[in-house]
Amino acid sequence: MDVGGTKTEGVAVDVDGTILARLRRPTEWGADAVIAGIVETTQALAAEVGFTAADILSVGVGVPGLVDAAQGRVLHAVNLGVESLDIARLAGAEIGAPIFVENDVKAAALGAASLRPDTAPMAYLNLGTGVAAGVVTGGRLWRGSRGIAGEVGHIPIEPNGRLCGCGQRGCIETLCGGGAVGRAWGRGGDYPVLDVYDAADAGDVEARALRADIARGAAAAVSVLVLTTDVETVVIGGGLTALADRLEPDLRAALRMNAAASPFIASLRLDERIELLAPGSPVAALGAALLGVEQPLSYPVGAADTSAVTFDKENPDHG
Ligand SMILES: [Zn+2]
Repeated sequence: MDVGGTKTEGVAVDVDGTILARLRRPTEWGADAVIAGIVETTQALAAEVGFTAADILSVGVGVPGLVDAAQGRVLHAVNLGVESLDIARLAGAEIGAPIFVENDVKAAALGAASLRPDTAPMAYLNLGTGVAAGVVTGGRLWRGSRGIAGEVGHIPIEPNGRLCGCGQRGCIETLCGGGAVGRAWGRGGDYPVLDVYDAADAGDVEARALRADIARGAAAAVSVLVLTTDVETVVIGGGLTALADRLEPDLRAALRMNAAASPFIASLRLDERIELLAPGSPVAALGAALLGVEQPLSYPVGAADTSAVTFDKENPDHG
């Protein structure tokens, strides 16, 4: 499941990654409510597909925040009202199955990778309230040594740019993160990025500049991911993809403009290496579910070798 700040999306999947059931429910605030929500979501999905508790091989939980995957713990999940929470231990005691916990964007990267026809190295770039990415290589998440791999949102690209929540100036996230765009727009509204696009279409000068920033920031994120990891594909998801009909042409134009200025960048063919996910695709929940399957992506989805499904409770961070 993907436990987000406002909603929890859950899927029940078979060992080959086939989605058997899917549900969405509101997320409630605070540690006790988060654990109760994970337990209830698991029970509801199990009931829907006719599983007993013994049928559940594992439960994967994607959460926004700093995750210690080895301990199954999340820190600083401010959107959930949680400072520190031992999800694996607390939810595992009630569910009676191994619980795997991962950062939500990293889980989404795993889920997006599982939907691909091959296991070529790929990155998942999340353009949502914030901007972050996950890299999957050899069918496994590449976390880096401290779990920071893929945090492209906080790479500064404009020394005199807007102040970022992280304390730096001109981070990629200040250009194309929904939260930062909303603050820069400063006119309120429930969907400030949509308002920016609409106002830009109507000729508003400030909105047109912000709209250009979104494309420029997203293009920079794609460039950074390919230049640092040489992933074959950058799959783009997150809330901003609800505006794909306007975001995608802008992003492709920004990538082509960068290519026109540099034969080297042109040779990377970045505009051929991006793909936008369909809005609402439950990749974070799917990827979370796959956390418990050893080498989840070593085979094409739909052709699973179930003998590879093993668990190591002593070392759940098998990525
Ligand atoms: Zn930053």
